Amino acid sequence: MTGNTRGAQASASAPAGVSSPAERVQWLREELDRHSYQYYVLDAPTIPDAEYDALFGELQALETEHPELLTDDSPTQRVGGAPLAAFDAVRHRVPMLSLNNGFEDEDVINFDRRCAQGLGRAAPVPAAETPQDLFSQAEQIDSAVEYACELKFDGLAMSLRYENGKLVQAATRGDGETGEDVTANVRTIKAIPLKLRGDAPEVLEVRGEVFMYREDFDRLNARQAEAGEKTFVNPRNAAAGSLRQLDPRITAKRPLSFFAYGIGELRGVDRPVTHSVMLDGFARLGLPVCTERRVVKGAPGLLAFYREIGERRAQLPYDIDGVVYKVNALAEQEQLGFVSRAPRFALAHKFPAQEMTTIVEDIEVQVGRTGAITPVARLAPVFVGGVTVTNATLHNEDEVRRKDVHIGDTVIVRRAGDVIPEVVAVVAERRPDDARAFVMPTECPVCGSHIEKLEGEAIARCTGGLICAAQRKQALLHFAQRRAMDIEGLGDKLVEQLVDQGIVRTPADLYKLGVMKLSALDRMAEKSAANIVAAIDGSRTPALNRFIFALGIRHVGESTAKDLAKHFGRLQAVMDADEAALLEVNDVGPVVAQSIANFFAEEHNRQVIEDLLASGVTPSESEPAARAPAPFAGKTFVLTGTLPTLSREAAKEMLEAAGAKVAGSVSKNTDYVVAGAEAGSKLEKAQALGVAVIDEDGMLALLREVGAG
Ligand code: NAD
Repeated sequence: MTGNTRGAQASASAPAGVSSPAERVQWLREELDRHSYQYYVLDAPTIPDAEYDALFGELQALETEHPELLTDDSPTQRVGGAPLAAFDAVRHRVPMLSLNNGFEDEDVINFDRRCAQGLGRAAPVPAAETPQDLFSQAEQIDSAVEYACELKFDGLAMSLRYENGKLVQAATRGDGETGEDVTANVRTIKAIPLKLRGDAPEVLEVRGEVFMYREDFDRLNARQAEAGEKTFVNPRNAAAGSLRQLDPRITAKRPLSFFAYGIGELRGVDRPVTHSVMLDGFARLGLPVCTERRVVKGAPGLLAFYREIGERRAQLPYDIDGVVYKVNALAEQEQLGFVSRAPRFALAHKFPAQEMTTIVEDIEVQVGRTGAITPVARLAPVFVGGVTVTNATLHNEDEVRRKDVHIGDTVIVRRAGDVIPEVVAVVAERRPDDARAFVMPTECPVCGSHIEKLEGEAIARCTGGLICAAQRKQALLHFAQRRAMDIEGLGDKLVEQLVDQGIVRTPADLYKLGVMKLSALDRMAEKSAANIVAAIDGSRTPALNRFIFALGIRHVGESTAKDLAKHFGRLQAVMDADEAALLEVNDVGPVVAQSIANFFAEEHNRQVIEDLLASGVTPSESEPAARAPAPFAGKTFVLTGTLPTLSREAAKEMLEAAGAKVAGSVSKNTDYVVAGAEAGSKLEKAQALGVAVIDEDGMLALLREVGAG
């Protein structure tokens, strides 16, 4: 194979003094052996496959150029790694080989040509240019080699031995000659039948791949992390690590799957004629066979399959690292035979790598729309998953610590499909002496406000919600929403323009907007501008609870805002309350109290509130709850049906302002049901329980009676 070096660049550099081809070959072999041991024996690779493949390709190329350097023990001549002594050894009656790799179209065309020539067929001709060519190509296609195309599953190879239909042995590939006996573990895999269906042959050795669905992998990793146990780098290593357990009870808890794709020993029946017929036969025996397969002719058929699967790769529920082509007729497979470690009749056509290594040049923090502070690794540009990646998210501070990422580290970066690139792991052995640990900033890089991390939360946040440019749009939309300041017409598109053009920076700036300024904006007629100015103007006298909610303090939703307004009565009192005072408020716990106190401790936030008040915004004030007990305290109301003039929300607000609790369902503890048009089951229940039923007028009269109407 020639293609490997094109898959990636070997970034591991040889130590000084390695210069001659012989020395380089020696160094590459040692590196490859070391990584093979990590990968096959320990199931814990430290570099991505693409990098291993690049080193492997370089060694192959050097050995081709200098045949005198080739030895039997070179990694290019061997399969896999030595079996673990902890398992009984299983000698494979039919060896389990590897596959030759191809990366480019050219590698596939060469493979097809070699097969055609080996089988004594005419070599395929290039694409037809003229009608004559077309005619001659049609003849060629007839003599083109037929291939079975499959996916290249990213798991580990397994040989299952069935005798008279019963699973008697399961073995890993090991070094290809001798594998590990993992029968007890494999018996726990639900996808693998313990007994075959129908008429099974006397002996059937099924070869296939044990793997893990991506969803199962994510769940397993989440479970492992929660239990404080080791997480796996990718589904392949999770599958290998789960299978090669000394205790089958652990394997039983791991969600492993299996696809059959080949045959070893077969006794008692004739060999199938083709590979595809064999797979159909496997399926009839009850073995799982992947349905993503196709029989094609010649290199054009192979390449079409590769492209089609490549487009759907990200949507497949499991990881694949390429597709596999096999000459379909088994007699032809035999005719082509094997080279040292792989069959001549098959080729693994690899997809561009989804994992590569690169250097972390810096770690910076980014501020999200809601103030979330995310550490982001700035990377030396690396081509991965089909694009050049220069940044990868590190999610949060805990994640940086867990993965132990330092500035200067070499890391494995993964990008699969359209998913945001992420740092999978650090290559610990390549940490330079001057690597620096990441320090979480204490101030927001955008607005300078303090960064807070509340207890029990993984994400740190900027506390400058009202002034931070990164959070501006979100903060304004929240401020204006119906349940907050209720400014009709101030939606996404308008906020976008106001912020992008620098017209509005904080909510206080809204109150300085005039019709002229607004109507100069895109798609804004004078009439709508006037409506918006009127809506802003109309929002100047909000209920205190709405105003507090509108500020967008973390953890202060509508209901907490109401509790705060009720408890303190005045805005200034809420702003001045310390954590101890806040803890006295109904339903306010330590995390919420801390969040409120942090918000008002931020000078910038106080300034915006001051500006709002200065521009005429006057939240309603009332006597604090403690000093004036609410007239309806302890009374429970239920609203049902459509009221003639009040919205459900307005009615609820009025009742709550008078101290009532507004519940969602009727029980014997309900004091009043306020029923409007088309009231349904709640009204019936109230009548059945004998609860007082009133209409909107009745409710308003009650409120007037207690002086709250
Ligand atoms: P391979 O993965 O390139 O191909 C052979 C294997 O493919 C088979 O043994 C089988 O398990 C699997 N396979 C999946 N689908 C198949 C199908 N439909 N038909 C047949 N086989 C199928 O070769 P390999 O010898 O297992 O190992 C080489 C791979 O392991 C390379 O990708 C290499 O990068 C990786 N590796 C990585 C490291 C590392 O440090 N990251 C170390 C060693 C090996």
